Amino acid sequence: MIKKNIIEDVSVLVPVKFAGALTYKVAKDQDLSAGDFVLVPLGSREVIGVVWDSQVEYLEADKKKYIKEKIEVEALPRASRRFIDWVAEYTMAPKGLVLKMAMSVPKALDKPKSILGARLNPSSTKIRMTESRRRVLAIVNPESAIPLQELAKKAAVSVSVITKLHQLGKLTLEEIILPSPFRVPDWTSPGPTLSNEQAIISQALSTAVEKKKFEVSLLEGVPGSGKTEVYTEAICKALSLGKQALVLLPEIALSTQWLTRFRQRFGCEPIVWHSDLTISQRKVAWRSIIEGRVQVVVGARSALFLPFKNLGIVIIDEEHDSSFKQEEGVIYNARDMGIVRARISDIPVCLVSATPSLETLNNTDTGKYKRFNLEHRYSGAGMPEISIVDMRHQPLKSNNWISPDLIKMLGETFDSGQQAMLFLNRRGYAPLTLCRKCGFRVHCPNCSTWLVEHKLLGRLQCHQCGYSLVASNICSNCGAADSMAACGPGVERIAEEVDAIFPRVTKEIVTSDTLSGPSSISELVQKIEDLRVQLLIGTQIIAKGYHFPGLTLVGVVDADLGLAGGDLRASERTHQLLYQVAGRSGRAENSGKVVIQTYMPDNPVIKALGDGNKEGFLHAEANDRESMGMPPFGRLVALIISSKDNNAADAVARELNRVAPRDNNIEILGPAEAPLRILRGWYRIRFLVKSKKEVNIQKKVRNWLVGCNIPSKVRVMVDVDPVNFL
Ligand code: ADP
Ligand code: ZN
Repeated sequence: MIKKNIIEDVSVLVPVKFAGALTYKVAKDQDLSAGDFVLVPLGSREVIGVVWDSQVEYLEADKKKYIKEKIEVEALPRASRRFIDWVAEYTMAPKGLVLKMAMSVPKALDKPKSILGARLNPSSTKIRMTESRRRVLAIVNPESAIPLQELAKKAAVSVSVITKLHQLGKLTLEEIILPSPFRVPDWTSPGPTLSNEQAIISQALSTAVEKKKFEVSLLEGVPGSGKTEVYTEAICKALSLGKQALVLLPEIALSTQWLTRFRQRFGCEPIVWHSDLTISQRKVAWRSIIEGRVQVVVGARSALFLPFKNLGIVIIDEEHDSSFKQEEGVIYNARDMGIVRARISDIPVCLVSATPSLETLNNTDTGKYKRFNLEHRYSGAGMPEISIVDMRHQPLKSNNWISPDLIKMLGETFDSGQQAMLFLNRRGYAPLTLCRKCGFRVHCPNCSTWLVEHKLLGRLQCHQCGYSLVASNICSNCGAADSMAACGPGVERIAEEVDAIFPRVTKEIVTSDTLSGPSSISELVQKIEDLRVQLLIGTQIIAKGYHFPGLTLVGVVDADLGLAGGDLRASERTHQLLYQVAGRSGRAENSGKVVIQTYMPDNPVIKALGDGNKEGFLHAEANDRESMGMPPFGRLVALIISSKDNNAADAVARELNRVAPRDNNIEILGPAEAPLRILRGWYRIRFLVKSKKEVNIQKKVRNWLVGCNIPSKVRVMVDVDPVNFL
């Protein structure tokens, strides 16, 4: 407690782009504690901040002002405050901006809505009774107030009958705060009987929850081995101890199967947290969480910043997924920060994946993390049989991409009443449109990208900035008519090709364009489960997590796509993705088949998939990284300099290069034009800083940037542990 007479000033962290907390005076009658939300003057406006208690660089407010008032809401828990400190330090982001993420729903700080309720006044005089008054009086009681609307409905009277009874002294009226709309998951309801290998791991995770100690476990297992069932038991354990559980899932907005399973098991929905929620949904959720009235939250990365009071376990499902990396604003990796969050609360964290990242595997190798492995699919089905099709030797007509082998297998699958999926990680119809006359390629005016044709929309679209224009057959460069040609396939074009071969097969294109939200995915999942769709043609959106019992053939149209970019993790990521895609095939009784089409059958990724040699691939990949000193064996920080004015960006890059530290502990690569040279009209230049693992690379970068004067029209973004190298 910060006592008014002992300390006059307190630090308040405000959710704006400041590095530290500001100092404010406390009025005599104000009792404030660390974590309290307070309204403070800031320049000409007033903002809500949080009383801060860690060592921070106090920026003196020009003239110290008084804290206006304390907001009526529970304090931001200590663990959340330390987490904000930590994330800001690690990601080199202004601490105020990290707080802003934790306060993502300002409206949640408003006084909660109250409604009027009626209570029976036991000591009152006699009144004239009517039938409707009698009905009301039969329902109310002296112990607790009943909301007026609810009472009126139950008694089948109008609200005026109730207010009249109040005037007559029969009822008292009072404000009641609405209870949290969230139900408590029933953790006592029995789960499935676990197999032996499942039970052993589940027991270990539950013991960790019971011990209430920080520890990291990797739960690895082939797709369909029951990883979700196993970690659900650990959630039950946390609930039984009165603790909260946080589950991070990539693509949570589309994880309807996960939610359905949760509901079937626990009798209610968990709290879902992602960016597509409405403000009022967020508000209710945030408030219920800080009040400790919520048990299970499943969310996207931003759920990490929710003000949990009493967290008992963190689960990070699909831990290898690169969508855990936030690339804008505060740039952080939710997988890594999830581990930090658990450490701060001294609780276990479980990383879950069929294809763990090299980072995580390295940590299990060195004994930092525990490693558990589910080796068998629960259904008993074997892993699918994978065949590699060498596209260099396939007789293909031009503008066709499906090999005769794959066509044959598709036919067999449809004939036997089973389902197939064609995977191509490219939305739209064609990635490039060019003029056959003049060679002009249609590109984005704001980005250095080609526009992607979307035939279903009749438009050409930029996948970076969303710019689009109506598709036309006339070249905008030379004016030639009927000259525009689509180059290469996207899923829409593959659908067209299949249509010509199997016109009667029911198909569904599945991409982020066709799935707009939870209801459209529920519908689709239902359709697939009911076998009303025979063929899915989709991007990675359909590759993850789903369990479709009838699906027995997966065809990868172009396995080489992800290998082309050649960034640090291209091989690793392609292997993960294709392994996951393959895992969709044959998850139930019927065994599955996978066909991988490639022009690079000798590429280690493709070879590993063909031979089923995951360990061997990972080993070789790890060796490569180690020999180059790359993550997870070394550290990287990327600097991205950008400006609408390319000369200004260049000048800053030159200046940074001039004052770059001459330090044997770090290696600075660049400046170099970013592969995505222009994005949304901003010119981009990159540096990559590399160091050994034990070096405090943030400190080196901080010292470097401190000495540099950066004009306001240039942005310098710091990306610690970069995932994206574009
Ligand atoms: P993973 O998360 O490893 O892909 P899931 O947990 O989704 O695997 O399990 C795959 C399927 O097997 C699901 O339908 C799940 O309900 C079922 N399953 C897994 N373990 C059991 C079990 N012990 N008893 C009954 N069904 C199980
Ligand atoms: Zn663009």
